Amino acid sequence: MQFSDVESDLTEILLTEEQIHDTIAGLAARIDADYAGKTPLLVGVLRGAVMVMADLARAITIPIEMDWMAVSSYGSSTQSSGVVRILKDLDTDLHGRDVLIVEDIIDSGLTLSWLLQNLRGRGAASVEICALLRKPEAAKVQVDVKYPGVDIPNAFVVGFGLDYAEKYRNLRGIAVLAPHVYS
Ligand code: 5GP
Repeated sequence: MQFSDVESDLTEILLTEEQIHDTIAGLAARIDADYAGKTPLLVGVLRGAVMVMADLARAITIPIEMDWMAVSSYGSSTQSSGVVRILKDLDTDLHGRDVLIVEDIIDSGLTLSWLLQNLRGRGAASVEICALLRKPEAAKVQVDVKYPGVDIPNAFVVGFGLDYAEKYRNLRGIAVLAPHVYS
């Protein structure tokens, strides 16, 4: 889906497909260098991180493994609740593993700080974060993101895996959702 297919639902284009591609290529190059000689476990956070994971994993040139977690986040509202619940846990034993959490977006940071603590408690050798988008103005807790993509304004965005009420995930770029869609 292109921006033009849902133009009236969007107020501002933040990242085009090409910009996302370049951002992910840069992140992958850093990950390649930092994890050379290792096989990191990429942990994708469903469902928003599906597109980031798919592109990042293919841009990385060292061996990796992938696993997925689902945690509760927004539902169909646009406000972070801070309540985190595991809906689907990992299938992989983390003992001694180098874990890289792959996220679509960090808003308040509440979900990730909880997830970091949870995964660190499972005996991993290391746990780091890669997040395509970050909203610095929305941060309620500081989360140390080793591989940040792009900082964006504090607005509700959709596309490239990010949804509103399960829609817009297949938008190829990332844009701000028009308030008339959710108000
Ligand atoms: P946090 O706990 O950092 O506030 O939010 C984490 C989760 O909320 C993200 O993984 C994502 O699923 C959702 N989220 C945060 N901001 C946005 C946004 O602007 N758009 C969409 N579609 N989801 C968001």
